Amino acid sequence: MELPKLNLHIHSKYSDGRNSIFQIVSTALDKGLDYICITDHFTNSWKADVIPNLNSLDKMEMYLDEIDQFQKYLLDEERQMTLFKGIEIDLSSTEKFIINTISPTKFDILLFEYLENIEGISFIKKIINYWKRKTKNSKNFPLIGLAHFDPSFFVINGMNILIDFLSQYQIFFEFNSSYSQFYSQKYSSFFNQLKERNILVSIGTDSHHIATLKDIEEAYDKIKFYELENNLIDLIQILDKKRI
Ligand SMILES: [Zn+2]
Repeated sequence: MELPKLNLHIHSKYSDGRNSIFQIVSTALDKGLDYICITDHFTNSWKADVIPNLNSLDKMEMYLDEIDQFQKYLLDEERQMTLFKGIEIDLSSTEKFIINTISPTKFDILLFEYLENIEGISFIKKIINYWKRKTKNSKNFPLIGLAHFDPSFFVINGMNILIDFLSQYQIFFEFNSSYSQFYSQKYSSFFNQLKERNILVSIGTDSHHIATLKDIEEAYDKIKFYELENNLIDLIQILDKKRI
C-alpha cells in the first residue's frame, strides 16, 4: 500500500519560518503532498525574546484566520491536499500562559517540543486534563504530538511511564527528518514499544523554508524499518475525520 505523503510540522512567517502560508500551501501542492500542518511556535520562555512566535491572542487569531482561508480555498478548488491548523508549544512556557492563551479546539494538531523528563510528562498531562475538563472532552479536541522527541532521555529511565503516557493520552511520536540521530537502532526497544502498544506516529520536517517541505523520505524509511506503517495509517484515519 502506498502511504500518503504528510508533513505535519511546518513554520511560517508567523514565527521563525521564512515563507508565507500562501507560499507554503502552493509549494506543498506543487510537490504533491497529501496532508500538511502549519505549526508555528508558541512560547513565553526566554526564547520568546529570540524567536518570533504566536505570543498574543490577536496574532493567533490572524494566523488561524489565514489558515482558514486556505482551507476553504483547497476545499472550493477540490484539491487533494488537506491543510491543518497547528501550533508548537515550547515546554519551557508557563502553564498559566499556555492555558490562558491557547484554545485547544481551534487547532487540529498541538505539538509539544522539548519533552526531556518525567516532570515534562506531568506538565503536559496537567494541561491536557485542564483543557479536557474545560472543553468537556469535545469531539474537536486536537491531536497531540511530541515534536522532534529524543528517546535518549527516557531509554535508561522512565520508558514505561513515557509509553503509558503516549498510549493513554493518544499522543503521537513524530519522525522528523531534521533529527535522524533520534531514530538510531540503539533505541530499537523504544520503537518496538511504539509498535506493540499501537502508539500513533507522524512525519514532520520542522521546515522553516519551502525548500525542505518535501524532505520526508528518510522518515518513511525509518517507519518502514521499525514496521510502524500501521501506526501511521491509524494517525491518517484520525486526520481524515478532521478534514473540513
Ligand atoms: Zn518546529
